[in-house]
Amino acid sequence: MDNLQGILTEIVQEMGAREARGTVANYIPELAAVDPTKFGIAVALPDGRVLSSGDTDDVFSIQSISKVFTLAIALGRLGDQLWARVGREPSGQAFNSILQLEHEQGRPRNPFINAGAIAVTDAILAGHVPKVVLGEILHFVRTAAEDDDIHINKSVARSETETGHRNFALAHFMRAHGRLFNSPELTLGTYFHQCAIEMTCEQLARAGRFLTNAPGVPRMVSPDRVRRINAIMMTCGHYDASGDFAYRVGLPGKSGVGGGILCVVPGKASIAVWSPGLNAQGNSQLGTEAIEMLARQMGWSVFA
Ligand code: GLN
Repeated sequence: MDNLQGILTEIVQEMGAREARGTVANYIPELAAVDPTKFGIAVALPDGRVLSSGDTDDVFSIQSISKVFTLAIALGRLGDQLWARVGREPSGQAFNSILQLEHEQGRPRNPFINAGAIAVTDAILAGHVPKVVLGEILHFVRTAAEDDDIHINKSVARSETETGHRNFALAHFMRAHGRLFNSPELTLGTYFHQCAIEMTCEQLARAGRFLTNAPGVPRMVSPDRVRRINAIMMTCGHYDASGDFAYRVGLPGKSGVGGGILCVVPGKASIAVWSPGLNAQGNSQLGTEAIEMLARQMGWSVFA
């Protein structure tokens, strides 16, 4: 652990020199404006230390990483009944694919593809107004990070509300199958706002500590549930590149189109990396390469 800071500094230098940085998500206009040369990485350790390097003061849009937090909230509220609404198998399809949903009668494969995450948000919305649910999601994230200075970027949420036609298609399709209980407008309004939560790498690394099950970290859900969330992160957290991420990195992770990745080293560390350029599967290109380098140098893997 002594050389961790040195490794992080080296990763920032190495990634800064790489030319192929992927492409910034442009289907959400507000995200298209983010500087593609940004890069930050942070590691939160169970003893309370957070080591970091690069652009660690910038906040970025966590986007689909929010799906980990809403899954934890939904499992807490519904328990195993959640699985009646969404599966837990890798999809092998793009994060915003419509194809599989039609084949499978509107039941999304897993909680991390868009359709599944929309179903999860719909489930936690039951009987509440969006404002209250968004307050609960923010409260969860702030408690996990032990930091109240975490907010939703309203411009990003608005930008996606205006352009999120594919997500509206998914929501309407599920509604047509009786699998969405609130109106698509209400559920997606909540979903777009949860995706628009912004954090720095350090805040995200801290917010992910509960997923390590390490002693002394905030206990947000039971250890048993943490294991299960990690299993879904490993199998589904990078969409149709989940197998590749497991092969290259060997750790549970969740990506977002804002260019962030949250990665868990069970019992040892929570890692957050941010580089806005995405690869063909919509995962941070340099973020993936950076975590691969970090995991290899630290000898971190769930596969011993
Ligand atoms: N808000 C984005 C969307 O629904 C999240 C996708 C992602 O981060 N992969 O398209």
